Amino acid sequence: MFSSGVPINTNQRTHPGSALVIAVKDFARNPGGMRNLEETVPAPGELSVAMIGVQEGSEVDLDLSLEAVHEGIFVSGTASVHVVGECSRCLDPLAYDLDVDIQEMFFFEGLAPVRAAKEDDNESLDDEQRLVENDHIDLEPLLRDVVVTALPFRPVCREDCQGLCSVCGIRLADEPGHHHEDLDPRWAALSGLAEDQEN
Ligand SMILES: [Zn+2]
Ligand SMILES: [Zn+2]
Repeated sequence: MFSSGVPINTNQRTHPGSALVIAVKDFARNPGGMRNLEETVPAPGELSVAMIGVQEGSEVDLDLSLEAVHEGIFVSGTASVHVVGECSRCLDPLAYDLDVDIQEMFFFEGLAPVRAAKEDDNESLDDEQRLVENDHIDLEPLLRDVVVTALPFRPVCREDCQGLCSVCGIRLADEPGHHHEDLDPRWAALSGLAEDQEN
């Protein structure tokens, strides 16, 4: 029933030491079997985008259910992470908790649906197939995908953050009504020059 045993996707490596690599051997071959995975694990690296992300080693709370189905293991539930970063307007530090939804199928090798080769590279990247490998599932790439997707590209400390003064760089929220009366000295010099030429 299970062919050859040659891995279909050699790009997906498993990391036996990682807390996010879950052994599923005991129930994987019994369709209908269920297991709850409620665990706190250290965050892997690279759960971040430019100005914001999850610190490596910080706590990730997993509240997942693993369901054995004919084709593989269906993983669903939530992962909660603590996000830290900088406001993209005023550069103040910001931090918040983020819950991401997880709904993902890990296929047994040989049972992943066969898909026609796609001409468009971007399209084939969109729906990467995850596999049960050596009776384990690796949640790390999945967690990275869902967390990075949920991070704002331009985080703000609050929606109406006014950012920094473009002239002197102070935080505008600290000084309501802040503005600059005087002309920039370079402009003053130029207007002086213009007057000279007129005379
Ligand atoms: Zn801000
Ligand atoms: Zn200013």
